[in-house]
Order: sequence, then structure tokens, then C-alpha cells
Amino acid sequence: MSLPVVAIVGRPNVGKSTIFNRLAGERIAIVEDQPGITRDRIYSRSEWNGREFHLIDTGGIEFGDTDEIMDHIRNQVELALDEADVILFVADARDGVTTTDEEVARFLHRTNKPVILMVNKVDDIKYTENVFEFYQLGFEHVIPVSSLHGTGTGDMLDAVVEHFPDREEEEYEEDTIKVSLIGRPNVGKSSLVNALLGEERVIVSPVAGTTRDAVDTSFEYEGQKYVLIDTAGIRKRGKVYESIEKYSVIRALRAIERSDVCLIVIDGERGIAEQDKKIAGYAHEAGRAAIFVVNKWDAVEKDEKTMDRFKRRIREEFQFMHYAPILFVSAKTKRRIHTVLPEVNEVAEQHAMRVPTSVLNQVIQDAMVTTPPPSDRGRRFRVRYVTQATVKPPTFILFVNDPELSHFSYLRYLENQLRQAFPFKGTPLRILLRKKS
Ligand code: GDP
Ligand code: GDP
Repeated sequence: MSLPVVAIVGRPNVGKSTIFNRLAGERIAIVEDQPGITRDRIYSRSEWNGREFHLIDTGGIEFGDTDEIMDHIRNQVELALDEADVILFVADARDGVTTTDEEVARFLHRTNKPVILMVNKVDDIKYTENVFEFYQLGFEHVIPVSSLHGTGTGDMLDAVVEHFPDREEEEYEEDTIKVSLIGRPNVGKSSLVNALLGEERVIVSPVAGTTRDAVDTSFEYEGQKYVLIDTAGIRKRGKVYESIEKYSVIRALRAIERSDVCLIVIDGERGIAEQDKKIAGYAHEAGRAAIFVVNKWDAVEKDEKTMDRFKRRIREEFQFMHYAPILFVSAKTKRRIHTVLPEVNEVAEQHAMRVPTSVLNQVIQDAMVTTPPPSDRGRRFRVRYVTQATVKPPTFILFVNDPELSHFSYLRYLENQLRQAFPFKGTPLRILLRKKS
């Protein structure tokens, strides 16, 4: 299930990034802070009144070599219209309605997506009167806000949340494996889709699932059902912004949310880039199973050490995803394409694995005997018992004497011990602590 997306648009300097930063949610506590995950300034997960959503600041996206401010804004708005469920159109009360605002409004009126017009910088009562002229832009919701002080943001968010689409029902059967291909532009995602669907014995269903603007492709292989999430998004649509790397991250987000297994596609010819890490980081944080698929291996000049060297690079660059297997393929020559689906099956199974409580407790108790937790000013961290709360990803609750006494490195050690007992190949694990004295 994917979260609603809210996109912030508007001309420069009206306060888009200020409101973005104000709304950008605190990170959900237990997700470990791991090296190698860089946060993207333009994207965040937020929450209001119990409704979670994604927030995108389109102002943070550079659209290549265009100097024309209007071209720039047009691209932002177009992207917002494609991706968002609700659009937050920001204007500046002090400047009044500008011709650029009018232009943006004209774009926005061409769609029937809900638009909330936020008139910003109303820090002072004396600017309240300026707000009325903004009704001429023709939007139902015109809300005065001061991003600086935070006033009005509650009303604004109420209006935003009110327009979220109804929560979507899970659309596929439980035993269908939902797979997404994610990665930068030109790594070969769409070629891989074609190669996978073109495999012998892959039977593509005539009817593809559709959610909102995404088109999925269902298929079967050796009795197992799969869905390729957002096939339309993978196959290029030819818009200007499609080639923008930051955009590819946003595009990946929804696909990641909706999938069980993420194929993180890396260009074997060009190597690993910063955006690859961001995309992979989202899959990790979302708790999805993951496989690195190094594509274009046909184009790489290699000797017997090349593959190992590339593997090592991946392990160094993606330290937080040490669990994800690595495949080397070529969509072009079809070499090793047949290894992809069996690997998907395997990690999907591990992602959904449930460990019996008794075995689990045995592993943790043995681990604590082998390497006892360090003591902290005379007090020692103790795990009383463990249960597995959920699957996808496997999530464990450790009932402990005092969560404050835990150390990241010790929890990492326990995770490693769990992984030695059960491979959990391809899946992140979550470990939560509860106090139990
Ligand atoms: P963006 O270009 O639309 O992302 O705009 P920024 O968020 O960078 O803000 C532009 C300027 O307006 C900055 O100097 C902000 O501090 C300022 N600003 C943003 N929101 C407010 C507000 O509510 N009141 C006032 N007085 N200034 C604001
Ligand atoms: P996407 O943007 O990630 O969907 O990438 P495409 O599938 O459109 O591929 C981008 C370019 O890489 C195209 O020119 C493809 O022909 C080329 N390409 C894709 N897969 C391979 C491969 O396995 N080997 C080689 N040599 N080129 C490939």
C-alpha cells in the first residue's frame, strides 16, 4: 500500500523549503541511524492526525540547463501533477499575487487534483488583509500561514489530509510476490523488464492491475505469481524530467512502498553513484527485501577478479544492506537473467519468515552467554525474552531490563547472531526494545 503524496509547488522564495522543513517528520525512532544513508532534502515522510504521507519539495529539484524560471516552474508543476495526490501551492502574502503565481494557477487548474493555496509569511496581523486577493486565483482553499512561526499550519494540514484518497485495499493475493525495479535513469530497468517478461516459461497475464496512475504487470513463472509494480513508470514516458536523477528517487518511492522485493538496478558499466545509495536506502528503511542487480555486465571488460571487486565495492558503499544478494546480468544478451526470479523467490520467502519463539530465545540467550553485554556504570543490559512481532520484514521485540542500557553495537551483534542462525537473506530485520523489569 502506498502513502498519499503531497507536492509543494510555487515560485522561488515564497517559503517552500521552510514549510517543507517544518513539516518534515521526525524519523520513526527505532530505525537505526546507519552510515551511508543520506537523507534527501526534497523528500520526507510526515504525519498529521495519524495520517502518514510523503512530502516532496519540487523547488529542490534542478531541471538541468533551463535558465527560464517559468520553464523551471512548469516542470515542477508537471511533476507534481503526475506524482501527487494533493498539491500545496505556496505564495507570498507580502508580495501579493504576482504574474508568476497566476501562471502557476493556470497550470494547476488544468487538472482536477486538489490544490491547497497556502499564503505564506502572514507573520503579522497586518498582512491578513493581503490574503483576500489570493481568492482571485480561483482555489477553494486559501489558507494564511506563517511557516516561520508555525501559525496556520494546522488548518493547512487539515485541508491537505481531507483530500487524501481513500485508503487503498491490498489489491493482490497474499501469495503473489510484488517486485519493483528501482534505480537511476538509464541503468537498464526497462530493458530488464522486457528481458524478464520475455523469459521462456514466463506467462504474462492479459489483464494488468491498475492503481491510480500506476500500471502493474502480472505474470507467472513455474507456478509462482508475481506482479511487476509500476511497469508504466519504468518504461519511459519521455517527459523532460524523466531523466532527472532526483526525480527517479521520487518515482522509486511509491514503487518501493508497494512491493515486497526491490531489485536495485546498478549500471555495471558506469558503476555506483550517490543516487543509487539513496534509492537503496529507501528500500532498506521501508523494510523491503532487496537484491542488487548489476546490469550491463556484457559491456564490462573483465578478468577473473572483476566480479569480486565489484561485489566488494557494493559491500563498501552499501554497508547498511549487507544482507542483499548481488546478481550480475545483462538485459541485452539475456545472460544470467534466469537467475533473477529464483533469487526473488528466495528473498521473498526469507522476508516473510517466522521463527518459532523457543528457537529465537535459545539463539539470543546463547549469544548473551557467548558475549555478555558490556556493563554501564555497574548496570548491565539484559534481554529477558524475545518474540517475533511481524514479518515483511521480520520484526523482533526484545523485552529488556532497561532500553537505555542498550548499545547500538550490541544490538548489531544480536542481529548478526540471528542472521547466523537463520540467514534472512535479502531482508532487513527490525529490532524493537520494550522495558520489562
Ligand atoms: P523557497 O525558495 O520557496 O523554498 O523559499 P525558502 O523556504 O527558501 O524561503 C525564502 C525566504 O523566506 C527565506 O529567507 C525564509 O526565511 C523566508 N520565509 C519563509 N517562510 C517565512 C514566513 O512565514 N515568514 C517570513 N517572514 N519569512 C519567511
Ligand atoms: P532505464 O532508464 O533504467 O529504464 O534504462 P533502459 O532500459 O532504457 O536502458 C538504458 C540504455 O542502456 C539503453 O540504451 C539500453 O539499450 C542500454 N542497456 C540496457 N541494458 C543493457 C545491457 O544489459 N547491456 C548493455 N550493453 N546495454 C544495456
